Amino acid sequence: YLAKEGRTGVELYQPDKDRNSPERLTLLGDLRRAIDNRELRLHYQPKVRLSSGAVHGVEALLRWRHPVHGPIAPSEYVPLAEQSYLMRQLTAYVIEEALEQAACWWHSGLSVQISVNISARDLLDSALPEQLEVGLARYGLPPSAIQLEVTERILTGDQAYTQETIKELATLGVPLALDDFGTGYSSLIRLQRLAVSEVKIDASFVRRIADSEDDDRIVRSIVDLVRSLGLRSVAEGVESDAVALRLAEMGCDVGQGWLFGKPMPAADATAWLRERSEAAAAQVEYGYQPEV
Ligand code: C2E
Ligand code: MG
Ligand code: MG
Ligand code: MG
Repeated sequence: YLAKEGRTGVELYQPDKDRNSPERLTLLGDLRRAIDNRELRLHYQPKVRLSSGAVHGVEALLRWRHPVHGPIAPSEYVPLAEQSYLMRQLTAYVIEEALEQAACWWHSGLSVQISVNISARDLLDSALPEQLEVGLARYGLPPSAIQLEVTERILTGDQAYTQETIKELATLGVPLALDDFGTGYSSLIRLQRLAVSEVKIDASFVRRIADSEDDDRIVRSIVDLVRSLGLRSVAEGVESDAVALRLAEMGCDVGQGWLFGKPMPAADATAWLRERSEAAAAQVEYGYQPEV
């Protein structure tokens, strides 16, 4: 039994290792209650056009303040939910909240696109396009009010069903973005076959472009590839002016990161968006011409 003790004599508990551990099951139960009680909130992070500084959209990111454990990062519970029946409920909840916020913004003159993260497995769910169609109609929103972000894992797994859902989403007109690009399996050919309109370059490359020539080259070649396919490139994790400037030089379309704004509660995001759109209106009035 000594061998079971780790090198330090204390084994750190890692919930990921045991699917049915009591801690994981408790957290899943708490998550189910949190969804039912609407304890989960969406925060919104701006996406900004690098050539002009104009708002391109916002990404909705889940925030959960657990009554006992305090704030828990989505990276702690989204993967957990993904392996359970709860994912479907979680995604349905997030889409509903996002649609409600989109309606609030669009009907007050802030026509900003909200990107919602979904799990690759959500694309196996034929109820997803229907929920979007019904929801968009109920709030009187165009399909481009919402975008779905899905990671490269979309390319593995059950392609036939996934392609079916993607086709339905395309028919509906709801755009798709490929999240965390560069960390997984995507190849040029697979990317071409997917009906995506936006490719989000993973922060792990973006963050280092100002001081690593390798990462600079990787990001530059992704930006070129994405452009040659007629898609939009979005850089994640933009934290400094130097990085934003370099990305703009490369011809990257959109940036997202702390430099522009952190994920904010809806009220703060509304204020941020208003300020930005007023500033943009003033620029137009005074003849400001953004670089193309
Ligand atoms: P993601 O979709 O790639 O989201 C970007 C993550 O980068 C977010 O982390 C965001 O807060 C963080 N971020 C943004 N700008 C910066 C920056 O300049 N520097 C740094 N260091 N980080 C930055 P977050 O909110 O913790 O979310 C982590 C992941 O959890 C997301 O990655 C997404 O995969 C997942 N997630 C979040 N909300 C949802 C959701 O509603 N549904 C699903 N299925 N997954 C979600
Ligand atoms: Mg995302
Ligand atoms: Mg990402
Ligand atoms: Mg990520």
